[in-house]
Amino acid sequence: MDIRLDGRTALITGGSEGLGRAMGRKFAESGANVVLVARDPGKLEDAQREIADAVSGTQARVETVSCDVTDPAQIRTAWDSVAGSLGSVDILINNAGATAFGPFANITDEMWQDDLDLKLFAAIRLARLAMPGMAERKWGRIINVLAVSAKTPGAASAPTSVSRAAGLALTKVLAGEGAPDNILVNALLVGLIKSGQHERRHQANAPEKSYEEYLAPLEEKLPMGRFGEAEEFANMACFLVSDAGSYVTGCGINVDGGRSPVV
Ligand code: NDP
Repeated sequence: MDIRLDGRTALITGGSEGLGRAMGRKFAESGANVVLVARDPGKLEDAQREIADAVSGTQARVETVSCDVTDPAQIRTAWDSVAGSLGSVDILINNAGATAFGPFANITDEMWQDDLDLKLFAAIRLARLAMPGMAERKWGRIINVLAVSAKTPGAASAPTSVSRAAGLALTKVLAGEGAPDNILVNALLVGLIKSGQHERRHQANAPEKSYEEYLAPLEEKLPMGRFGEAEEFANMACFLVSDAGSYVTGCGINVDGGRSPVV
């Protein structure tokens, strides 16, 4: 099976680190132009350099846009700048996110709103901008990157679980509306995968340990005995956004090494 993305353009939010950066690299290595979107210009530049080096000598272009996806005006500006430089967006990856959970009683209205703005409304706003062009070209792919808690929420896992469950519902709605125009919309539900957020937690909580030592007690509890690698996640995403994934839509697929119960 040949998984190529030549001639496609992919916009990836949260593209400067972790899973987003790994998808950017994988998609570019598969021939796509990629636009990495995140807030910190320094991290974006770093990611752009790494990916551009990896695909030097090929046609793939790697661009960045600094944008806070919780701000509708910044989303609009970012979208216009991508349209100006690369034209159409064929593949939209709604991936920007951050950890947010705690006892229900401690979560303020503001915290609820911030989480929904980041994990739900950013995806809604970008899909609204992306889908008309995809419909015209009769080809589009959208992946909403969620968490396994979308299907299996636990105590003290709000607001994330609620935002992620809404993301799953959004995925299903958009898949239904996009199907006649060959716009395929899926969700990938993350378990525990090595990324920037875990590196930051390691530095904040146990800088005296190596990263491997820090992860070990968590890994012991996982069925495969290890965290996933960002590249493993990117492989799954690449399949779904390629022509090889042409009959998969409306799914919420766990990428969690078997951690979740069957749902
Ligand atoms: P990282 O923390 O490694 O990367 C997060 C990315 O999102 C960064 O590029 C960050 O850049 C960007 N970002 C955060 N907030 C915003 C914002 N307001 N606007 C634009 N960009 C933003 O996270 P992961 O790679 O681990 O996570 C990717 C997705 O997967 C997230 O949605 C996360 O919640 C989800 N997930 C990951 C898990 C894991 O184990 N890795 C587990 C469960 C879910 P910057 O800060 O510069 O904006």
